[in-house]
Amino acid sequence: MTKNISRPGSRRTFLAETAFGCGALVLGSQGFAACAAAEKETPPVLKIGLLTDMHYAEKVTAGNRHYRDSLRKIRPAVDHFNKVKADFAVELGDFVDEAPTLEEELAYVEKIEAEFARFKGDRHYVLGNHCVSRLKKEEFLSSCGQRRKEKRAYYSFDRGGFHFVVLDACFRSDGVPYGRKNFKWTDTEIPPVERKWLAADLQKNSRPTIVFAHQRLDVGGSYGVKSAVKVRKILEDSGRVLAVFQGHNHVNDHKVIGGVHYVTLAALIEGALAKGNNAWSVLEVYPGGVLKVDGFHHQEDYSLAAD
Ligand SMILES: [Zn+2]
Repeated sequence: MTKNISRPGSRRTFLAETAFGCGALVLGSQGFAACAAAEKETPPVLKIGLLTDMHYAEKVTAGNRHYRDSLRKIRPAVDHFNKVKADFAVELGDFVDEAPTLEEELAYVEKIEAEFARFKGDRHYVLGNHCVSRLKKEEFLSSCGQRRKEKRAYYSFDRGGFHFVVLDACFRSDGVPYGRKNFKWTDTEIPPVERKWLAADLQKNSRPTIVFAHQRLDVGGSYGVKSAVKVRKILEDSGRVLAVFQGHNHVNDHKVIGGVHYVTLAALIEGALAKGNNAWSVLEVYPGGVLKVDGFHHQEDYSLAAD
């Protein structure tokens, strides 16, 4: 498989960042060869397949958004997750794009869900603004086979000695949940009730933690969650959160704020499949909390040292 075909400079970034990240695994600076050898001897405790912003819809291409192609772009990603035996997979939102009718939009969800369901492991869904534009949250989640007794889209779970949190920022700033086209995409919020749940969830947890969100928690402006500063404080105060993985912005980005890594993932939808465009990654979780993002096509690679 060709990696990162559209980004000739990315390998250099990867090597530099890997050497930095590996410092947490190897005492002292022993160079990249020793670092690579140590990583080879230490397999990841978890592998997690990551996808974001598929925007699948049966409609004509708009700009760089090749809506129809997403159905075929997700297939090699899922094949790859199966090949590396990923422990679970997360789609970080905007699974589908808008259809002319509710029925057609549900049909889009069913079609792309059938592709994602080829993954032979647990699947997790972060709500994106496009997932619940026309559809109500329960309609979207139930058509993905996600029926949870708590009747909310944010939740947490443990796996391999790590804690994982799925957030839902598809609320207006007045706390009303998205659905039936009742919102502006720039008005995105994690309301007080969810922030309270998050603080309590992190407080009772003693494991290193990874968070998944659609809208960004590391910026203000149109792409950022309105209460991002408050949410970040909750994450920082817990002392447990290693990283937040997010989508929404369709660009690669990485920031460290208050000792927490914020990684924005590239969108799968961008670019024509016929020209080799795609984006996905496998997140490798190492003992001690070092995280490695193994990115494909437009997705950057990262090696993130635990603080
Ligand atoms: Zn999107």
